[in-house]
Amino acid sequence: MSAVDQLVLSGLTVDFDGFKAVDGVDLTMTQGVLNFLIGPNGAGKTTLVDAVTGLVNGTGSATFRGADLLTMKSHRIVRHGVGRTFQTATVFEELSVLQNLDIAGGVHRKAWRLALPRRGVPDYVASALDTIGLTHLADTPAGYLAHGQKQWLEIGMLLVQDASVMLLDEPVAGMSAEERDATGDLLRRIGTDRTIVVIEHDMDFVRNYADHVTVMHAGKVLAEGTVAEVQADPRVQEVYLGH
Ligand code: ADP
Repeated sequence: MSAVDQLVLSGLTVDFDGFKAVDGVDLTMTQGVLNFLIGPNGAGKTTLVDAVTGLVNGTGSATFRGADLLTMKSHRIVRHGVGRTFQTATVFEELSVLQNLDIAGGVHRKAWRLALPRRGVPDYVASALDTIGLTHLADTPAGYLAHGQKQWLEIGMLLVQDASVMLLDEPVAGMSAEERDATGDLLRRIGTDRTIVVIEHDMDFVRNYADHVTVMHAGKVLAEGTVAEVQADPRVQEVYLGH
């Protein structure tokens, strides 16, 4: 049995010209539980994810599988098994669902598969299609997908990249209730053997799916625990839930 993975942030700080958008965050996010990061606008959630994925410089450490991500460039962070999505889906609209997955997986495997004669769909792509529930739309241009389906395709792109850590920025924003539930179920399924961190504003979704919640405020961790625990915390009610 392999050990359970953890993404461990220690003293993580991001300083923008003297303004600490992330200010000394200590946080452990564990494989197999759905970790949610909440907090008011400007709390530092996106900047924290930016630092972990190499988009901005951070100090302190962000350790995953024995390596400090803060010392790596973003492409090495991806190869180390850490992937993210953005609030706005970043799929290639003109290419099919299958081609998007093929490119995401091919880039990761250093092979431009589209340039090769097709010999069927690679197993890992077929498996990702099945997991995200888009097998029936494999040949549809991504631009024709519904909003929710595009977000699932993005998650599929992380699956084919073998991302063991997935950092998802508001994956259910703009989704219907059915799409939100489907997304929650998807995250539960893929979260058993991955470390998943979800930035989320939708409190219904957080209540339904979060196993562990971290509340950020002004760059710091204000509270963490189960949904019930953080909801009961008067400091959390004051800055966030009591609006
Ligand atoms: P959240 O995701 O919780 O809404 P952000 O991480 O986007 O918060 O922002 C945290 C704070 O950092 C905000 O006050 C924001 O204005 C500031 N900030 C974000 N990016 C930059 C930047 N590149 N330069 C200066 N300040 C920034």
